[in-house]
Order: sequence, then structure tokens, then C-alpha cells
Amino acid sequence: MQADLVIAGATAPDGSLVDVAISGATISAVTPAGELPQGARRIEAAGKLVSPSFVEGHIHLDKTLLGLPFIPHIPGNTVALRIAAEKQLRRTVALPVEERGGRLIEQIAAFGTGSIRSHVDIDTEIGLKGLHALMVLKERYAHLVDIQIVAFPQSGVITDSGTAALLDAALEEGADLVGGLDPAGIDNDVTGHLDAIFSIAEKHGVGLDIHLHDPGPLGAFELRQIAGRTKAAGLEGKVAVSHAFALGSIDDVEFGRTAQALASAGVAIMTNGPGPVSMPPVKRLKAAGVTVFAGSDNIRDAWSPYGNGDLLQRAMIIGYRQDFNADEDVAHAFAMVTTIPATVLGLEGYGLAPGCRADLVLIPAGSVPEAVAGVSGGRTVLKHGKVIAG
Ligand SMILES: [Zn+2]
Repeated sequence: MQADLVIAGATAPDGSLVDVAISGATISAVTPAGELPQGARRIEAAGKLVSPSFVEGHIHLDKTLLGLPFIPHIPGNTVALRIAAEKQLRRTVALPVEERGGRLIEQIAAFGTGSIRSHVDIDTEIGLKGLHALMVLKERYAHLVDIQIVAFPQSGVITDSGTAALLDAALEEGADLVGGLDPAGIDNDVTGHLDAIFSIAEKHGVGLDIHLHDPGPLGAFELRQIAGRTKAAGLEGKVAVSHAFALGSIDDVEFGRTAQALASAGVAIMTNGPGPVSMPPVKRLKAAGVTVFAGSDNIRDAWSPYGNGDLLQRAMIIGYRQDFNADEDVAHAFAMVTTIPATVLGLEGYGLAPGCRADLVLIPAGSVPEAVAGVSGGRTVLKHGKVIAG
């Protein structure tokens, strides 16, 4: 059998010891270790964990301040205050998105992230500038990552009148999904906000990914509204809600009917394992049939000074926040940065099997739980069958 590269003697996520043959940009064979003939170029894995690349479910390439000297965080702990702080800051930042976002892509690709969903701010002040920058990045860095773009109304749709038309134009020009933001908390008009973003999604035949920070029963009500509209639009499996803090702070009855609505509409939830706020309970949601995936969200930007974009570290943070200690639970945190977001993003050819894309990460750990728990460094990363880091 001809192969351009063989990863020999690696531990697969299921614990088995395997050889992985790569031809071009594709996995051509996965066999028990020692069965592949010698000859091709080899990476001796010596038992290291081999996994399909990490999948970043939620990031903001346009917001990061990487590439600039560290900028002190502007205080303010409401969504509205953070939006104002960001607008103030971005008017002074000279380094273009193409530079800052490019820096972030290079950083996360080296950690082993092969595909990402990035939101991009669309508002009446900045227009489609961020989108155009992300489209440049998508092409420039196609050898490192695949990028899916969400047109994100960071300043609201009703409050910032004129944004709906810009979102529509963004989809016309190449954005992949429509975003949304706190229909109640920012726009004070749940019906108006959801009417606007769902009609754009339906017009363009795309999915949605909506930021929802609104807490408690109000946020739960909005989640059920989103689920109802998802079903009505026939968008089951194509809608995600990011953050959904409300799911971590409502009573059992409210939780039960909200989780049921999300599950039956195929609405997925994204969490980054947030610090001081309530977080969606991952295992309870999973038991109710709701898909929960992970993302980094803000990295060194006006919203947060924290983060480096390493999704193995993100899996650890989520596992830690959710008190995941048993192997199967820690492994679930790993799935939240690999197989689960791959499904949510609709990635084709994702996996560790013949015919799948040779987008892989080799991690110095003997098992998935060990890799997550210790956030193992020193990784080797392959994209399109080529070693790009390590
Ligand atoms: Zn976000």
C-alpha cells in the first residue's frame, strides 16, 4: 500500500494502538499497530495519543488584540458596558484585523485546531469591514484552518437600526451563518429580534448561532422561543445558542421544559466554561438529548484579557467547572472540542478512519483523560496531511 506518511504506534481515542497511513490530504488506512509495511516516511508516535484535530466552536477572530502590547482590561461587567468599552477601544487600535486575527489563527493551529467557527461583528459603525477581513484570513490561512463565519450583530438588531440590512448583505457576500444577541437584554424586543435574524437565515438557507447571556427564566423563555422558531423554519440541527447561562440558574420544571424544547428542535448549546456566572449543566443537558459543544470565545480582547485558544485547555476548564472526574466524563469534555463541534459545524470527512481528512493532532499522553487533565503540551499537528507544527 502506498502512503506519503505513516504515523506508527499511536494510541487512538478509543485506547487501541494503531498505525495511521496518510495519502495526500486523506487518511488512507488505520490498522492495528505494526501491520503497515515499512517504507513510507514515518512518525514514530511511541504510544502518543492521535486524534482528529480540535474544532473551535466559537471564537472572535476580529476582536483579538494579539500582536499588540498587552492592553489593560477596561472595567464593566454588563454586556452593554462591554459593548461600549469595545467600541471605545477599537477606534484606537491601529493594527488591522488581518494582522491580529492572523496571529490568533497561527497560535491556535499550532495547538492542534483545524477548523473554526468565528463570529464577526457587524454593526452600523463598522459595517462589513470585519467580514471582509475574515474573508481574507479564510483564504490566506486555508493551509492551517477551515473557517466558518457567523455574521454577528454585536450592537443589536433593533437598537442599532440598519444592522438587519447589513446582516443580509453579509450573507450575500460570503458569511456562512446569521448571529444574534440577547433579544431581550440588548434589543428589548424578543419578537422583533428573532423575526429579523430568522427571516435572514431562511432567505439565505443557512443556520444561526445566537449569543444569549440573558439569565434565569427570561433567558429560558428566549431559548424556547428560539427552539420554536427553529422548528417552524425547518432548521433543526442548524441552530446553536452560545452561552445560554440561563440553563444553569433555573428550577427543575423550567429546566425540563426548556431542555425538552431544545432537544426536539435540535438546537445545540455552546459553552466556554465561564468563570463567575452560571453555566449550562453539560451532563444534565446530554441526558435530556441536548448537544453541548465548546469554544474559546474571547481571547485577549476587550471582553476578556484571558485565554490562548488552546482547546485542550478549554476542555480541561469545562471538565473542572463541571466537576468531571471519572474517565468517561473527562473524555466527554474532549469530545466537546472534537467530535461534537465537528457535527455541529457540519464538517465533512472528520474522524480517524480511512477516507477522513488527515487533519490530526498527536498529543504526548497515553489516553484522552490524561491529555485533558494535564493539558499535554509538545504536540505535533497535521493539516491536509502535512505537518504544520511540532
Ligand atoms: Zn462570543
